[in-house]
Amino acid sequence: AQRPYIVGNWKMNGTRAMLSEARAIDRAAQRHMKVEVAVAPPFTLIHAVHREAEQIGVGAQDCHPGEDGAHTGDISASMLADAGAKFVILGHSERRTAHGESNDLVKSKAQAALEAGMRVIMCCGEDEKTRNSGKAEKFVLDQLRASLPEMDNAEERLTVAYEPIWAIGTGNTATVEDIEAMHKAIRGLLVELFGEEQGAEVRILYGGSVKPDNAREILSAEEVGGALVGGASLTADSFMGIALAA
Ligand code: 13P
Repeated sequence: AQRPYIVGNWKMNGTRAMLSEARAIDRAAQRHMKVEVAVAPPFTLIHAVHREAEQIGVGAQDCHPGEDGAHTGDISASMLADAGAKFVILGHSERRTAHGESNDLVKSKAQAALEAGMRVIMCCGEDEKTRNSGKAEKFVLDQLRASLPEMDNAEERLTVAYEPIWAIGTGNTATVEDIEAMHKAIRGLLVELFGEEQGAEVRILYGGSVKPDNAREILSAEEVGGALVGGASLTADSFMGIALAA
């Protein structure tokens, strides 16, 4: 089995003043090598964090699906790789909602990221209405089926993050039973798509209000291979508090 993977999604937070936090995260991660730690800062900090970091992985929160060219304001996967990014978070509900990203677009972004030699953290998750209607599992599996590109070596290049929308930034986490049920369903799909060996090794992260005080319970749940952390990843103390619980 792979090491637990704890990833901080800084979202639209962080100026250069945050580099001291990145350094502190990096130092702490060097003392806890049994956990794989990574952060996805905003674009403007990727290269600076990459230069500071000896141990942690650095990634991006989005990429454009195309090559370099006439796309004002966009950033290609190869530019991100050049800046030091090792992975891209794609399919996050905040981008699906605020930027109207479809499964098709997410899939083409994932293809671009893989072609640029980066790993992909593919997010999925249902909203509250879908959860209450009892259709969450079907929704999430359909979303993943439509967003994941074909790839070789999926166990090295792909991570899936289950983030129920109603748990993001709300302080409400899914119950351990619900997390386990969803992660088992996702595991079934990964095995179907990538085969018995690779599909079994792809890590499935949980995201949505993970904090130091609920991390142990969540991270010890079956089929939970780590966490994708928003708010609590913004200080080294709380973020590494989560990593230490893994
Ligand atoms: P919070 O940890 O702030 O709920 O955010 C979760 C998330 O969206 C990570 O991608």
